[in-house]
Amino acid sequence: MDYDLKIVGGTIVDGSGGEAYRGDVGVQDGKVVALGKADGDAVRTIDAGGLVVSPGFVDIHTHYDAQVMWDNMLSISPWHGVTTAVMGNCGFGVAPMRPADRQGIMRTLEKVEGMSYEALEAGLGLDWPFESYPDYLGAIKKGGMAINLASFIGHTPVRLYVMGDDAMEREATADEIDQMAAIVRAGMEAGALGFSTSMAATHNAFDGRPVPSRLAGFAETDALIGAMASTGRGIMQCTIGKKLFHDELSDLAQRHGVPVTWTALLSGMTGPGSHQRHLVKTAEQRAAGLDIVPQVACRPINFDFDFGEPFPFELFPIFKELMGLDTNAKKGAYADPEFRQNFKALTAPDQKNLLANWTGRAVISTLPSYPSQDERPLTDVARERGVDATDLALDLSIESDFAARFRFPFINYDQDEVRELLTDENTVVALSDDGAHASQLCDA
Ligand SMILES: [Zn+2]
Repeated sequence: MDYDLKIVGGTIVDGSGGEAYRGDVGVQDGKVVALGKADGDAVRTIDAGGLVVSPGFVDIHTHYDAQVMWDNMLSISPWHGVTTAVMGNCGFGVAPMRPADRQGIMRTLEKVEGMSYEALEAGLGLDWPFESYPDYLGAIKKGGMAINLASFIGHTPVRLYVMGDDAMEREATADEIDQMAAIVRAGMEAGALGFSTSMAATHNAFDGRPVPSRLAGFAETDALIGAMASTGRGIMQCTIGKKLFHDELSDLAQRHGVPVTWTALLSGMTGPGSHQRHLVKTAEQRAAGLDIVPQVACRPINFDFDFGEPFPFELFPIFKELMGLDTNAKKGAYADPEFRQNFKALTAPDQKNLLANWTGRAVISTLPSYPSQDERPLTDVARERGVDATDLALDLSIESDFAARFRFPFINYDQDEVRELLTDENTVVALSDDGAHASQLCDA
């Protein structure tokens, strides 16, 4: 036999960036030995007519840091053809971690990344088989892995390890920065892919304080990227915020000579067409020789919520006031005509915020008393009933004791703009966020 396996008649996308072509693939001893033409016999032949044959995908934005300890299949990435996953994004992670901080970080992962606390506790227990980052990588290796895995060392656990609770309160001292730098260097030497951080205003710890990485001054981030780069390799991943965006990333990439990838460049971040400004900036950075790559996403970012926990609207003071109130008090507020009038005004189509015209994009995601309405556009149902869509949403919520759920995209839903982002030569498709937000979405 010439091959162990032949895959014939498929459309080959070989990962080189070249055009797709029809052809065969021959595999021998676990390696591709023929590509395009594979004459000869094979032990096993698969007909791939009508299908794409390609190498596995590299999913560069996942959060399997905890899950990897109990699920070495990294479900569900391999189901979608992912053969390499990168975790430790956004400055998060579970190592290094002192026993006293374990509960806090699990609560924070529950809040920021939508991981179930019960699952984390059941999967990790309270007696973790590691404390340092090198020991963490060692523990993963011991468990074995169905696919390839790479990991950033995350700013938040590093900071928490060195500063304790102060990590969520203040900037670091020079001595603390030195200690963090030593941990980052040791992490790199143990095999970390690079260093990740987050300055995103939405990243808050379980108790509402900013996650540790957000308290870092530029000097600290600079020193930690320096520590990473001093090992001769490493990529910086960063979830952007006001303190760390184009100018600061250019500065870091330039002085340390490191590649930087940032999360995320989406359509509609600050109004229609706003993505273009960032594509232009990226092109300028790359023309200047800097290896800076924005991560883009192919799916809309959705809110799926009920009005018992109306987190999409909590930026409006009229909703903020309801936080912490019980079910009856919330129902009372939603029934109030003045509340409704204010809510409608704040989300009118001509408003300049991400929630403008939310009803026009919303579907009823669950309505236990009328399952036939599930997944129907809110405005269609409102029209049939001859009522306003906002009134309908609030009425259904009150009637159902907040069992009615709604879903709407708030960003990255303009398909023309998303096409521009996906096809731009300087971007990379990412943001599956696998391992995170399991209660909300599955963007894998
Ligand atoms: Zn992330």
